[in-house]
Amino acid sequence: MSVQDKLDSIFTAVVHRNPGESEFHQAVREVLDSVAPALGKHPEYAQAKIIERICEPERQIIFRVPWEDDRGEVHINRGFRVEFNSALGPYKGGLRFHPSVYLGIVKFLGFEQLFKNALTGMPIGGGKGGSDFDPKGRSDREVMRFCQSFMTELYRHIGEYTDVPAGDIGVGGREIGYLFGQYKRITNRYESGVLTGKGLVYGGAQVRREATGYGAVFFAEEMLRAAGDGIEGKRVVVSGSGNVAIYAIEKVHQLGGLVVACSDSSGYVRDDKGIDVAVLKEVKEVRRERIEQYVRHRPGATFTPGGGLWRDVPCAVAIPSATQNEIDADDAAALVAGGCVAVVEGANMPTTPAAVRVFAEAGVRFAPGKAANAGGVAASALEMQQNASRDSWTFEYSEQRLHGIMRDIHARCYATAEEYGMPGNYVAGANIDGFRMVAEAMLAHGLI
Ligand code: GLU
Repeated sequence: MSVQDKLDSIFTAVVHRNPGESEFHQAVREVLDSVAPALGKHPEYAQAKIIERICEPERQIIFRVPWEDDRGEVHINRGFRVEFNSALGPYKGGLRFHPSVYLGIVKFLGFEQLFKNALTGMPIGGGKGGSDFDPKGRSDREVMRFCQSFMTELYRHIGEYTDVPAGDIGVGGREIGYLFGQYKRITNRYESGVLTGKGLVYGGAQVRREATGYGAVFFAEEMLRAAGDGIEGKRVVVSGSGNVAIYAIEKVHQLGGLVVACSDSSGYVRDDKGIDVAVLKEVKEVRRERIEQYVRHRPGATFTPGGGLWRDVPCAVAIPSATQNEIDADDAAALVAGGCVAVVEGANMPTTPAAVRVFAEAGVRFAPGKAANAGGVAASALEMQQNASRDSWTFEYSEQRLHGIMRDIHARCYATAEEYGMPGNYVAGANIDGFRMVAEAMLAHGLI
């Protein structure tokens, strides 16, 4: 059987074993499509059934999360933690609270996380979790009660040497605080390294909040530089307006680019003078309002409802930082027609496979999320390191470390793509390099 036939049959088995989980299938297909050359060079991987083992999570936990709203009504949500792979370290990955969350989303995120975490070069395995709970419109106390109930089950599965959750969509500093408080209360242990993304006053790390956005822009800068270009003077569009988007915009501006639009699930704002990050933070982080409110503070800015951002606003650099599959082939074609030269995924898998093909055919440089947005989890690993040594570093030093890690990830993806005869193909570079590291560790551990 040829390597390709073998990969096709592994993929068929994954689809069969995980019915209806389309996002997970998509993430697996993308990696399998990249790793054939590595399998050709390493027959021992096939012999040990490394791919088949990688595609099956080590453990999947699904649990009931009952909680009471402010009017006394009882709600039942579903909680998940998928402990995907611990070859490189304790399971590590965020929690997502969003009504779209189901097992297939958690598995796709956990699978991506595994390779992303490998690329950081830090000792962390891959996991992910979350709930179909919708925090939108909920009071602080409702969110607290939900987090406490969620942790009342989750605590028994996690630990600083076992599994270390963090935030993702719908889980930020507030939620991590409530989760940590409940963990501490149930276990009677001040185990700082059990969660990352903590507040600075109780064991959090400088630059963790900024890290995913800053890291994506550092990666963009490296990628453009490798092509003899740079971010300075570039017109940029960033989708989303959460933690990733806000700090990506801040860093683009610090490096001399101009972000002219950003969005949330209700629509997008366009501000040709450049998105004002202070206003954006006030609207989204402090007041937790819809993006439309931004235009009240910025004369000349406009709000457009709906999802037309990628088709309507031309840019040289696109940093999709909202959610999975937000850029389809038509969006990609519009971006290419508008002069886009680089796409950098701030979110996890925001570009559909068809859109990735459109970019490849047009020669647009494309940075996959598992490389470009690895800054967040890398900073989480730095937070764990500070917790383990009961230390805390300065903002400047932490940012310097993050910058160095992003430069290394870029260099590694770039070099691996060259090594396998696909120069400039960051998807292949990231997938092969991440995969090789996980595979080598699994081989070393024997059949477990
Ligand atoms: N949710 C983030 C990601 O997708 C961060 C995970 C973490 O810090 O553990 O990588």
